Amino acid sequence: MTVSGEKTSLQSMNPLETALVIGGGVAGMQAALDIADQGYKVVLVEKTPSIGGVMAMLDKTFPTLDCSACILTPRLSEVSRHPNIELLTYSEVTGITGKAGDFRVKVLKKARGVLIDKCSGCGECVPHCPIQVRNEFDQNLGYRKAIYIGFPQSTPLVYTIDKENCIKCELCVKSCDREAIDLTMEDEMIEIPVGSIVIATGYELFDVSVYHRLGYGRFKNVINALEYERLINASGPTGGKLMRLSDGKIPRSIGFVQCVGARDVQKGVPYCSRVCCMYGIKNAVMAKELHHDIVKNVTIYYADIRAYGKGFEEFFNMSKERFGIKFIRGRVGELEEDNATKNIVIWAENTETGEFLKQEHELLVLCPGILPPKGLKDLAENLGLEVSIDGFIPISYPASNPVDTDVPGVYVAGCAESAKDIPDSVAAGSAAAMRASITLARGGDI
Ligand code: FAD
Ligand code: SF4
Ligand code: SF4
Repeated sequence: MTVSGEKTSLQSMNPLETALVIGGGVAGMQAALDIADQGYKVVLVEKTPSIGGVMAMLDKTFPTLDCSACILTPRLSEVSRHPNIELLTYSEVTGITGKAGDFRVKVLKKARGVLIDKCSGCGECVPHCPIQVRNEFDQNLGYRKAIYIGFPQSTPLVYTIDKENCIKCELCVKSCDREAIDLTMEDEMIEIPVGSIVIATGYELFDVSVYHRLGYGRFKNVINALEYERLINASGPTGGKLMRLSDGKIPRSIGFVQCVGARDVQKGVPYCSRVCCMYGIKNAVMAKELHHDIVKNVTIYYADIRAYGKGFEEFFNMSKERFGIKFIRGRVGELEEDNATKNIVIWAENTETGEFLKQEHELLVLCPGILPPKGLKDLAENLGLEVSIDGFIPISYPASNPVDTDVPGVYVAGCAESAKDIPDSVAAGSAAAMRASITLARGGDI
């Protein structure tokens, strides 16, 4: 089998030796590696041009403040080099029939415009492209060309042509010595036989502009937490300098608002998103770590702090004691922008003291909750599954089979099941891999 080459005889794979993993975030990567290490073949389908998922966008990880890219990058290359893993990036599952041990999976391979086996990732073509658009990997805060990779460690390291913006000038074609660019490339549909399936499609973030009163999309200095992650990331659009979008200045006072699109029945998100308290605290600490001489006030507005994992409570305490992060229990009510300074003035009730507060921050970061990704319902239906009331993939017996769905041979890992942090997503990836491998070992008889 060729490494991430897409011309192997996928269609004639033996289903009893092959598993499908849908989604190439940290959970899907772990599932793929663990199945592949047991000697089975894995087809890993990822809808974007690169594997990595949200972890690839993060700067540090709580509670240890380890560098996210330093943990992820070796895993990316392990997946891409594994002889038993076939990567189908920029691809989507469009239909599934059959049963455990004998599924037939239809996969749409979207035309990348660049030949995977020829592109070396040298980037020579990029300066020749006249089209510049916002880079969605940087949460639209930075720019990329119409021929692009999202981030430096993109895996596979192969460029993609953004068909919507490409004007077909062919300047990139002429600049590529390896003749890797084919603007006439078309989408392709293939059918792959597999014996078991792991769903690891992750999550998307709640659209914080739904809360009109919180000013996102109206005021430049109100951003969401993933935008903040890109701003503090050394490989992000500002080279790691935390700056306000209105004037490029490092903010001296920052507010973080928790539970935006979480635990809110009226907005259809009654559940706790589990990771937001911790990533809010992490990002508050990071502001002080990066610019402690400038950032003087960091305040977190919260409903409850849920620091449930190993080392989390200690991290929470350290954020107060060592970094001086302030915590105010209370939901932010109204806010407005100061016309002259572009600072954000907020009103909040401190629910511990009953006091009404007016506070001014130079930057306000909204910490959104976690939603099931678009298309998960359709994918579930293709598999004969119904999503649960929260829109995620339900599991059959949480206490005894935490990664089994109601369909034999189909398993779920990571945030596709519910909001999880990275360690829990990885653990679920390993668990789902074991269950998927057992299905193959038993010839689909489970
Ligand atoms: P994802 O990372 O979402 O990956 C899913 C993948 O599946 C994506 O690549 C997606 O493109 C792909 N996909 C989706 N649908 C399909 C489809 N139909 N077909 C094919 N592919 C598909 N956790 C920590 O432990 N520590 C932290 O410090 C931390 N910080 C965070 C900061 C922020 C701002 C946020 C929002 C989250 C943070 N998290 C943190 C949580 C962390 O992002 C998740 O735990 C982790 O990304 C979950 O991995 P996953 O593989 O389940 O999902
Ligand atoms: Fe290099 Fe050609 Fe790939 Fe562009 S398309 S990165 S020039 S090999
Ligand atoms: Fe850019 Fe498209 Fe022209 Fe290539 S053909 S240089 S991708 S606009």
